[in-house]
Amino acid sequence: MVTRRKFINTGVLGVAAIAATSTLFRCSKKVSAQNNSIIGDFAITENTKHSGTIDRLYALNGGFAVAPDQSVYSPGKAKKGEQIILSCNAYLIRRAGEWIMWDTGIEDEVAKVPGGRIIAHDIRGIVVRTISSQLADIGIAPADVRTVILSHAHFDHVGNAALFRHATWYIQRREHKAMFSPDYEQYGYSPSLYEDLKQAKVKLMDGDRDIFGDGSVKVISTPGHTPGHCSLLLCLAKTGLVLLSGDVAHFRFNMEHRCVPTMNSNPEESRRSMERVDAIIRNEGAQIWFNHDIVQTATFPHAPAHFN
Ligand SMILES: [Zn+2]
Repeated sequence: MVTRRKFINTGVLGVAAIAATSTLFRCSKKVSAQNNSIIGDFAITENTKHSGTIDRLYALNGGFAVAPDQSVYSPGKAKKGEQIILSCNAYLIRRAGEWIMWDTGIEDEVAKVPGGRIIAHDIRGIVVRTISSQLADIGIAPADVRTVILSHAHFDHVGNAALFRHATWYIQRREHKAMFSPDYEQYGYSPSLYEDLKQAKVKLMDGDRDIFGDGSVKVISTPGHTPGHCSLLLCLAKTGLVLLSGDVAHFRFNMEHRCVPTMNSNPEESRRSMERVDAIIRNEGAQIWFNHDIVQTATFPHAPAHFN
């Protein structure tokens, strides 16, 4: 259990210092008329209301990705040929007694290989704690997870699709089309990882989706990294609003400098998605959790600890 934990506030784009306090965050903050802003094609309006909350949020260690050239992620801002290590996270949500996953991390099987293995694009995946073992520590099994919401289909997000093949999956229609298209390679997907999704129950989404209709779990469309990339805005009673940004920006530096990685499917959409996420942070006071920011990830208690 995580209470009264403090975060470092590193500015507008930093993790807001909305620590768990004794005052319950009601997640009903309305955006003032002045703050109603339109960023690109995106309107931040009344659909940002939140009346419901999730019960718990667990950060799971989804492994590490060792990439040989950080300039791929931050073109023009990072030296070519320098290695970068990315944290990978998956998240477990409990809402109304049900279990929901947001992404699934790097494949558990990789844990059997000392030092990990190259999975895609010369990127080495390393798994130190399997997702299965982390769920076991919490006292549940993969079969207990009824719903999976997917940010996008890269190996570090969809790696354990097979563990959750029984669940109902929420995937953006554009992402689903690209994952199963003949040119999957151009998007960097590894279809063998998500073959089971051909038989799974999949709910296709077209843009934003308030999954339960109460604002507690809201999918925010943030394309650009891949065709159907999306982020997740969660409302917690004590912690407040948490935006799991997926790979809108791999880490804080990229968000602050609006860096668009060379592998992104659409640079213009990528920039607009970063603007959109930035507007949500500012207008709604949400914290942003960068999935691949190894420094920020190190400040989080991971499962079995949880946020309320
Ligand atoms: Zn990723």
